[in-house]
Amino acid sequence: MRLIFIGPPGVGKGTQARRICDYFSILHLSTGDILRDEISKDSYIGQSAKSFIDAGHLVPDDVLLEIMSGRLAQEDCNSGYCLDGFPRTILQAEGLENILTDLNHALNAVISIVADEEELINRLVLRGETSGRSDDTADIIRQRLQIYRQQTEPLIEFYAQRNLVKTVDGIGAIPEITERIQKTIE
Ligand code: AMP
Repeated sequence: MRLIFIGPPGVGKGTQARRICDYFSILHLSTGDILRDEISKDSYIGQSAKSFIDAGHLVPDDVLLEIMSGRLAQEDCNSGYCLDGFPRTILQAEGLENILTDLNHALNAVISIVADEEELINRLVLRGETSGRSDDTADIIRQRLQIYRQQTEPLIEFYAQRNLVKTVDGIGAIPEITERIQKTIE
């Protein structure tokens, strides 16, 4: 099983991706987690990504494509995975198509989780009070939502043309939303 999760910041994409990965026993690959890990290691990638993340901007496509082409070629990806937070731009989606063709991997579905924008801002401001994430502040959240609309939302049409998109309502209790996702996949 190979899945992509797409959704605006705060929609519960990471939480749901993790739960779905547990359910199908597949690997959870979050580019946000990978980048934050690089930052905590103070690696070269981490140092170059930090200023973009802190400003609520996307890290450049070539950095992400390099990280993901290396990661997806590792052996633990052979039995399936879910991509959480990647791709985020059309250029990344096109790059991913090439990577998957080379690896002979086919996608099963793209899960698009949707929710009202006011609800998202409220959730993220609350998350910021406990997460300690430097990008969960009101100004940066608005910036991330705008970038999502401009750069990431067009991916839904990109994958709709490939008949892969399953849209799921992201409002409700966490287990209910997980069940909705399971139903659309099975
Ligand atoms: P996330 O944890 O998915 O919300 O990601 C946190 C931040 O990491 C984003 O706001 C971006 O700055 C950066 N990031 C994560 N994934 C990507 C990606 N695919 N392309 C560019 N930047 C990314």
